[in-house]
Amino acid sequence: MMRNLKELVRPNVAQMKPYSSARDEYSGQEAQVFLDANECPYNRPLNRYPDPMQQELKERLATLKGVRPECLFLGNGSDEAIDLLYRVFCRPGKDNVVAIAPTYGMYEVCAAMNDVEYRPVMLNARYQMSAEALLRRCDHHTKLVWLCSPNNPTGNLMDEEQVRQLLHHFTGIVVVDEAYGDFTRAPQWRQRLSQWPNLVVLNTMSKAWGCAAIRLGMALASPEIVALMNKVKYPYNVNLLTQQAALEALEQRHDVQEWVNELVRERELVMEAVRQLPYVKAVYPSEANFFLVRMKRADDAYHYLVQRGIIVRSRTKVKLCEDCLRITIGSRTENQTLLAALRQWEGTTSKT
Ligand SMILES: *Cc1c(COP(=O)(O)O)cnc(C)c1O
Repeated sequence: MMRNLKELVRPNVAQMKPYSSARDEYSGQEAQVFLDANECPYNRPLNRYPDPMQQELKERLATLKGVRPECLFLGNGSDEAIDLLYRVFCRPGKDNVVAIAPTYGMYEVCAAMNDVEYRPVMLNARYQMSAEALLRRCDHHTKLVWLCSPNNPTGNLMDEEQVRQLLHHFTGIVVVDEAYGDFTRAPQWRQRLSQWPNLVVLNTMSKAWGCAAIRLGMALASPEIVALMNKVKYPYNVNLLTQQAALEALEQRHDVQEWVNELVRERELVMEAVRQLPYVKAVYPSEANFFLVRMKRADDAYHYLVQRGIIVRSRTKVKLCEDCLRITIGSRTENQTLLAALRQWEGTTSKT
């Protein structure tokens, strides 16, 4: 059961008055002459400040995601949403957060930046979470629990029943990062927002939508939580070019679905081929556009691939991912290049 939102929010955030921009004070469509924001009259359309609340884009995204626009926060990548959740809820030097481990590195970086204690809780050998283990690390100062599903770098979904247990028993906010949700057929947590007032879901345009360059991420949550994030964000945090590019990308929905289908097909082929390599110890199940592979001499393999101009992610220094590389699924040709190189490495090792 979630505590009252007022108890969770930092008192200074609850009390502060947000910046009121020219476009907040007049947001009508009728006016012809805008002399309120010290803008330059030339160089249209870049001369005007963008919509601080991104209303047109939010309406389209809300339809796509099946939520109300008030339940949508848009940011400069999901990384902005991650940082803002700390700034809204966590008092520096006092509060703490709990997170599954291993997972996406930004939760810990933003904790450090905000002077918030970060409490990682190891997944089990199958990279699965335990609600009970996470709850054991929570105390009255734990404001957020970070989950990522499908998880980066392990690729697997978090067990639905465990997430449900956590949502049920934790008194703070549970964040489920679904950056890779578009690659799985599993039900998305954002569809269950109305059941869980303490749930925040993260989505992004950076992965399945092929728009990492435009920096558009989002948080989906109750209107009350979204209002708090809007209160502390920079007034014009999503620039005009990003809003326009995102609207254009949303017109390409069918392409995106085809990309996803193709990447999922390729993922299965590449994983199967990698599984056949003699030095590979394990290929972990994935519901994302990457997978984790455990192998002999993973660091050597990494450097060998770099020499061939192929860059994968070494996770060998991450706890529970020793001897592991994280491999992103690319185009068919890129994947074939990778596999050819890995098969040749097999040749080099068998000679030594
Ligand atoms: C890639 C990724 C993101 C995306 O971050 P953006 O800032 O939206 O590009 C978010 N969460 C996880 C777990 C990721 O792997």
